[in-house]
Amino acid sequence: METVSTCPYCGVGCGVIIEHDEIRVTGVRGDPKHPANFGRLCTKGSTLHLTATPQAITQRLIHPQLRRHKTLPLERVGWDEALDHAAQRFAQAIDEHGPDSVAFYISGQMLTEDYYVFNKLAKGLIGTNNVDSNSRLCMSSAVAGYKATLGADAPPCSYEDIDHADCLLIAGSNMAWTHPVLFRRIEDAKQLRPAMKIIVVDPRRTDTAESADLHLAILPGTDVALYNAMLHVLLWEDFVDLDYIRNHTEGFDALKALVRDYTPAMAGDICGVKPDDIVKAAHWFGQAPAALSLYCQGLNQSSHGTDSNIAIIQLHLATGKIGAPGCGPFSLTGQPNAMGGREVGGMANLLSGHRDLANRDDRAEVARLWGVSDIPAKPGLTAVELFEAVHRGDIKALWIACTNPAQSMPDLLKVHEALAACPFVIVQEVSPNTDTAAYADLLLPAAAWAEKEGTSTNSERCISRVRAAVPPPGEARADWLIAVDFAKRLESILPGHASSIFSYDTVEDVFNEHKVTTLGRDLDIGGLSYELLESAGPQQWPVPTGSCQGTSRLYGSGIFPTANGRASFKPVQYRPTAEQTDARFPLHLNTGRLRDQWHGMSRTGMVPRLYAHRPEPVLEMNARDMELRGIADGDLVQVKGKRSQIILQAAASNALRQAQTYIPMHWGGRFMTGLGPNSLMPSVTDPLSHQPELKHAVVRVERLATGWQLVAFRRDDRGEMHAALQPWLGRFDHATLTLAGRESSVVVLRAWGLSETAPPSIEMMDELMIAMHLDVPHTLVFNDDKRGIAKRALIENERLLGALLCKETRAAKWILDLVVRGGSTKELRKWLFAPIATPPSTYLVRGRVVCNCHDVSEDEIAADYASGLDLASLQSKRNCGTSCGSCLPELRRMATQTMQNSKMWDKGL
Ligand code: SF4
Repeated sequence: METVSTCPYCGVGCGVIIEHDEIRVTGVRGDPKHPANFGRLCTKGSTLHLTATPQAITQRLIHPQLRRHKTLPLERVGWDEALDHAAQRFAQAIDEHGPDSVAFYISGQMLTEDYYVFNKLAKGLIGTNNVDSNSRLCMSSAVAGYKATLGADAPPCSYEDIDHADCLLIAGSNMAWTHPVLFRRIEDAKQLRPAMKIIVVDPRRTDTAESADLHLAILPGTDVALYNAMLHVLLWEDFVDLDYIRNHTEGFDALKALVRDYTPAMAGDICGVKPDDIVKAAHWFGQAPAALSLYCQGLNQSSHGTDSNIAIIQLHLATGKIGAPGCGPFSLTGQPNAMGGREVGGMANLLSGHRDLANRDDRAEVARLWGVSDIPAKPGLTAVELFEAVHRGDIKALWIACTNPAQSMPDLLKVHEALAACPFVIVQEVSPNTDTAAYADLLLPAAAWAEKEGTSTNSERCISRVRAAVPPPGEARADWLIAVDFAKRLESILPGHASSIFSYDTVEDVFNEHKVTTLGRDLDIGGLSYELLESAGPQQWPVPTGSCQGTSRLYGSGIFPTANGRASFKPVQYRPTAEQTDARFPLHLNTGRLRDQWHGMSRTGMVPRLYAHRPEPVLEMNARDMELRGIADGDLVQVKGKRSQIILQAAASNALRQAQTYIPMHWGGRFMTGLGPNSLMPSVTDPLSHQPELKHAVVRVERLATGWQLVAFRRDDRGEMHAALQPWLGRFDHATLTLAGRESSVVVLRAWGLSETAPPSIEMMDELMIAMHLDVPHTLVFNDDKRGIAKRALIENERLLGALLCKETRAAKWILDLVVRGGSTKELRKWLFAPIATPPSTYLVRGRVVCNCHDVSEDEIAADYASGLDLASLQSKRNCGTSCGSCLPELRRMATQTMQNSKMWDKGL
């Protein structure tokens, strides 16, 4: 059977077709009719079904679990007991300490209906605005930027604008990895119209930057200076549209006066780029009949993220490049339904239907719509403020749903302290193993993708149906149902609630109520219904009453949703990042995303093949910085910031200029020793959007002398061992715990001891052998007690199922390869315990996988290019890059590299 639904990962919002037998998901493919992807999926989307395999289901949270006292373990309870207990604890906190002593921290992963109910529960029933979302970490600066300039939180563009643009300005986004299906559209547009200019602004030379006509590798946090300087050039060279400015905007004179100082030379100094390149970017933008900006976390996750958004939007207002095909400032959402959360006002400072909490009329209107006496005026706590309040002890009951703040917040040590000290923490999750779940007093099992119904809105305001194909496992329930069930129980305890304001029979009832809150607003969906979504497919808001079709582009009339219909210019000055490098902390640290992983990896982290492109956490550094510090590739280094330190392996990267370092944000405490990269990040926030500066900290990096290493691999087709081994991460100076494999699943534990640390004792090794199920009588054993070397290998039916190497680990790579590929050990058995990097036979170890869809490795691609194949012939030989296309930028880069190497060879260099 097939069910049409939506991908739950990134903000592109691709349509998917779920293949299933009504009990189990059996496959997934792109929906050819969905306007976001027309059948395409990226590596993450195309492996969604692998997060719903029977093995993956064994890792799900399937029953409510309650901790009756902080010192006791969680125990299974029924839903009635779980939610009665939750209602009692919340009611008690409200009674003793007031409504603001409770808080909700929800998520852009939720569906719009889920979001709506949680928001109403907090603001309407309990009377607290303490409901914020992980979208605060993702796009609140974009919200603030749109509202400050255009008057409403509405991205005015559509994906189809890519097909009409003559100039693309991609800022602070590695779209090639983070929004891959949309990036495929850019590649297609460039191929069709090679004259289209692509400018990429990013401190790193990412795959997106590699594809650009101009890469501006600005220093972190200097965006405002760059866009002000571009506006300076646009003004100086008469590229601005004075008629548009006169007729549709206000406040331009003050901005004009401000950007007079932002000469390309001045901005070039601040940004660390050539002034000529700033001029070139401005020329391309100004000369293009249609210019489109696409931007994401690089702009938003900053202590001046709102200003960065304003500065880029102003380029469009000043040139009149907005509201027409191929034009406009287009903020990409990171999460699948960050937009839906904004629509229902699911944040501490917003209200349903794009209303403002600070506006008395808006509060009164929402109170009337919800049938409550009032909505409190006091602003709620935004994400960073919320966890600070928890840390102070001001929050007595905290409900966290569908998000993992113990990994995703900045200044993580403090967040962990806060969660540990909070009197009552509810965690509503699909996984019992997230960093946050460890702090739960009550764990509530939530339905996952393919098990829940509702709607979500992608980056281009397009509302899609999310449909259930299979029932949730065990007792897991849809998020909105959990919130409604709790709300009804709380209504029966709290005084003054004779009739329920949560009388919904179906999720569609919730949608219909949400629809009413949008009537007459900029996002009016009065004409939209589940029925219309069923018959006509996804629609972009607004869809006002009487209309049965979405709106692809906003502000074509030049009239903006402000009091006087004009957009506003704001004079925004460049401000530096919150932390500045100095002699003690001389390096910048940036964080970002990997191509094949999603956020905290609670889902993608279950799929072994998604580790193949980037198998383990590393700190990326410029090669010169490594040389200066005596660091070689693979060395263990300490990354020390102002509030925390972590240990990682170092890896040279030519994507980084000197003094820049980079760690992917996905690796949390389930995958490495310590709390992960966000422990290094400051909790400094933008004053308007309250979004924290998650993309910049200053650090120093020092090489650590290691005494020994241990590597252990084990086939784990039941998928249970990764979670079971997590406590081991804390038993070594540094360790990583990942997966490998394609059809099979192999758990990979790597551990390091510093020079002063004694190797693991025999007892510890025995314990690890038991934990990894390597303790069977026929396990091969080698011990050299004098040198502290220990090796184990478990062979069954000539297949190597697991191995452990301690102190002498040179053979680790090929032995892991053998476990993963399940090859015969007949010829290789005698080499298993030999201290050799490769066995002296024809056995070839495969390198890192570049094309995940067709399982093609870096070595295979390099060998084919070296033999003279071009990209087209490589693709016809191996199919790489012909399915999802996520690897195409890397395939092109490798082709260019091979060509350059062969030219250098020809020249005898
Ligand atoms: Fe999902 Fe990939 Fe599409 Fe994003 S680009 S919605 S992750 S398939």
